[in-house]
Amino acid sequence: MSTAKARSAHVRAVLGTELFERLPNTKVLLVGAGGIGCELLKNIVLTGFGKITLLDLDTIDLSNLNRQFLFRKKDVKQSKALVAAQTAGTFNPNVQLTPIHGNIKEPQYDIPWFQQFDIVLNALDNLDARRHVNKMCMAAHVPLVESGTAGYLGQVQPLLKDQTECFDCIPKPTPKTFPVCTIRSTPSQPIHCIVWSKSYLLGQLFGEDEDAGSELDDAEKHGENAQEIAALRKQAQAFNTVRIALRTPFNQDAARLAFQKVFNTDIQNLLVMADMWRSRAPPVPLDFDAITEGTFALRGNTLSASCDATNGAGLKDQRALSLRDNVELFVDSTNRMAARLRGGNETTIAFDKDDEDALDFVTAASNLRSAAYGIDTQTRWEVKEMAGNIIPAIATTNAIVSGLIVLQALHLLRRNNNSAMRNVHLQYKPAVPLSTITLSRPNPACGICRDTYALVRCDPSRARLGDIIKGVLGEDEREVSVYEDKRLLSDPDFDDNLDRTLESLNVTQGKFLAIVDEEGEWGTISAGLSTLPSDHPPTAPPFILPSPLPQPPKKEKVPPPPEPTPTPDTPRVSRKRSLPIDTDSDIIDLAPTPKRLKPTQNTNPNGDLRKNGKAPGSPSKRRKLDTDGAVVPGELRGDVIVID
Ligand SMILES: [Zn+2]
Repeated sequence: MSTAKARSAHVRAVLGTELFERLPNTKVLLVGAGGIGCELLKNIVLTGFGKITLLDLDTIDLSNLNRQFLFRKKDVKQSKALVAAQTAGTFNPNVQLTPIHGNIKEPQYDIPWFQQFDIVLNALDNLDARRHVNKMCMAAHVPLVESGTAGYLGQVQPLLKDQTECFDCIPKPTPKTFPVCTIRSTPSQPIHCIVWSKSYLLGQLFGEDEDAGSELDDAEKHGENAQEIAALRKQAQAFNTVRIALRTPFNQDAARLAFQKVFNTDIQNLLVMADMWRSRAPPVPLDFDAITEGTFALRGNTLSASCDATNGAGLKDQRALSLRDNVELFVDSTNRMAARLRGGNETTIAFDKDDEDALDFVTAASNLRSAAYGIDTQTRWEVKEMAGNIIPAIATTNAIVSGLIVLQALHLLRRNNNSAMRNVHLQYKPAVPLSTITLSRPNPACGICRDTYALVRCDPSRARLGDIIKGVLGEDEREVSVYEDKRLLSDPDFDDNLDRTLESLNVTQGKFLAIVDEEGEWGTISAGLSTLPSDHPPTAPPFILPSPLPQPPKKEKVPPPPEPTPTPDTPRVSRKRSLPIDTDSDIIDLAPTPKRLKPTQNTNPNGDLRKNGKAPGSPSKRRKLDTDGAVVPGELRGDVIVID
């Protein structure tokens, strides 16, 4: 037996000759060459897939090397896609690998580009890109296998337009938020203090100069304590003095000023509100001089034990910091950050867990606040984990998930055998590490996969919006609104843009025009834009309409979401649904940042001018925005990130 035959004998036996012989000509797009991507590339090359396009925008970082085994130290700073293709190409001489160092969201990766592939495999690390690829695969009618890992958990989900749920059929949980008052006045857990220093204090001192009013206005509207809100307003004004000191060259006193305001004056002001402290322990204002002189006595034994336990041994990150250590670290890190602002290279500093100065600052500030409120303090490492919401990436999880992706991809490619496809979860149960769910039908309310997609080839510098809409609707005379993403471009009462070219409206290759029935009776048409073929005569109209024209179905009445049916072969089936894992990048952004929302712009240069000042979103889009914007109430339990 020749080497090539021997190499593939087992795969051929497992897959059967028919499927196996198709693999060399199956065109695969693999998006992502990170933790999952590297494993997966190796798997598909060895399985016998012959035409693989690999796309990733990242370069290799030293910290990737513990799990992205196609990379070596010499490859650091090189393109992931290029190096991964080079390495994996040697595993099978018959594979044709096309690496692309680029961003999948770039306009040239439009519907026709996706349509050249037989299957797309996602190995992505962020929700935004995953949703984008999902939409492109729905528009291009290309099967997609979605995947994600988070620590020891993982998920693989095959997606097929009109047959299964898409990635967006189940709303993804939104970042947790906390009530403003918990963060700003009445913290009770370390995470509250960490969120306060990371998302509030750091921004107040080193971020953009913003008007704090609107967040507090909102809180007031939502019925939070009015007296407390007034005190918080006063605090906000006083921040200005400190901000100026931090930006004034040679001001030696800025850090102390910041300390005095935040850990003394503000707390004194809060203590005045006796009602607030009736059912909870009041905070203790901290005294800068007394702490540095070692004469400060903090209430309670637990506190002094945890705060005074200076332990010189161990790693810097894991050392318990005393109250004085925290004051010193606060002063030191504040001075370092002030020096950066004064140096003029940076005008603001935002939190980044890998920014040593910012991490020191957040560690010290949150510990000082914890001390004042009688909450346990944390080591620098613990703060880093909680503030960065780090979930470690684990090589074995990636390996298992990559294997599952190949299995689901093979099911998708095995014609007429889609019944074998499963939504697979890797879970924390030693007895049943994998759970499978048969695939659900698309969610009739989904704003992505329920749209009727059509391809419109055009020259955006010449094609006018009105002509395209009219052309796509054909004989259909119904009233429609037209959107590009969330921008309203026209509706029955707003036709100013119809005579404008697509280019002047910034609607170009790779974008979609959503044509929404005003009555909500018919499905949305999503017209994806691409370029004209090179042989398109210059005298012909500057667009080519889809043929036949898209015929959106009448909208189904939306029933409650169907329950997944358990598979007969696994009695203990998890009924849990899509895991919104944000994958291999180490981070799930919980972003409990009580950040102010900017007031919605009602005009923009791209032509979205809405007479009543609101762009309400199409019916389907509006629904999606509602779910995306949902706030998960309740307390966050420690730093546990609830995924299911
Ligand atoms: Zn969907």
